[in-house]
Amino acid sequence: MAVEAEQSLVLKCPTCGASIAISPEDLVITCSFCGETMEAGGKKIPDHKMLPSQERSAIQANIQDFLRKNKIKEGASIEEVKASYIPWWLVPFSSQTHYYGVQNGTVTRQKTETYRDSEGKTRTRTVSYSVPVYKPEEGDFARSGRENVIARKHTVFYGFDKFASTIFLENIEAFDFQKVKQHDAEFINAEVDAHEAQQDAYGRVENQNRSIAASKVSKLVRCDSKVTLQYPTYVHAPLWTARYKFQGKVYKVSAAGDSGKVVKGEVPLTLGRRLLNLIIGLSIMVVGGIIAQIGFQSGQVVDQEGWYIAMIIGLVFMGISFMCTSTAFRMQLEKSDRIKKPPKKKAQAAPAEATAPQPEA
Ligand SMILES: [Zn+2]
Repeated sequence: MAVEAEQSLVLKCPTCGASIAISPEDLVITCSFCGETMEAGGKKIPDHKMLPSQERSAIQANIQDFLRKNKIKEGASIEEVKASYIPWWLVPFSSQTHYYGVQNGTVTRQKTETYRDSEGKTRTRTVSYSVPVYKPEEGDFARSGRENVIARKHTVFYGFDKFASTIFLENIEAFDFQKVKQHDAEFINAEVDAHEAQQDAYGRVENQNRSIAASKVSKLVRCDSKVTLQYPTYVHAPLWTARYKFQGKVYKVSAAGDSGKVVKGEVPLTLGRRLLNLIIGLSIMVVGGIIAQIGFQSGQVVDQEGWYIAMIIGLVFMGISFMCTSTAFRMQLEKSDRIKKPPKKKAQAAPAEATAPQPEA
């Protein structure tokens, strides 16, 4: 009884009066009845924003698409499609940096040396040589922008890491509880408050400034950053998770709410596919071995260069072969859609390609 009381606390919503169960780690809480968002002490969070989500049907269609692309055609049934709104703090910053360092350079000097020519006479000639020099350098730069800080310390959602690394928080809009409610979504409360998010952002901005300064000189001696932070914006962003059943087994898949793309999904490997991987892998290994062998032989007779090239090709083949054969001994893979940065809502600029996650082979 005592333990239970410690694990969950009850907070009374100042807006609708409902009792909300919270955990002791929750520092910012969203009322699941009216959507009011407040600190654990009851103080309201200003400027609560959200990243809008696509409809459930669109998410489901995308997951179907993902399964089809990964050759899971028949008999897969998608279950438990659920949206969770995960909290972020967006911390606006501006910074001024002054740095001191040393720049390496060389100067060319000349000297006269004596030598004997082919007839044995002593002659002199002028030769150039270079000497390293170090000159002090200092400079300033200003940098401003926004740091996105995840407001969770323990996040156990499948695919969350991929979601966090590909999320694009430009298209946020005012928080609308009705929109969230229609998805029957769950709110995740923040375990990181505004102050802690600012501290986190401060450290990151300082580190980034330091590495920018370090890239401007050969050796960085001192770097002073003055960082100014504004009060952060609290944002909830939707991650959809689902399960699907295929040949009697259950697999996980998750999709980003804004783009609807699958950020991570388990893909079972059928026996046929695993055998195919094994055969391809072994074939590549044999071919790589033959190339390396031919290169080795020709290198002994002809030149060194051919031998190096053949060695490199051989090693590349070995690598590919290893990837194929190791896949043959695995039961499932993890894959994702190509995730592109969505276009900005009021953008004039063309949408740029985001870093697309590679499928985890
Ligand atoms: Zn409420």
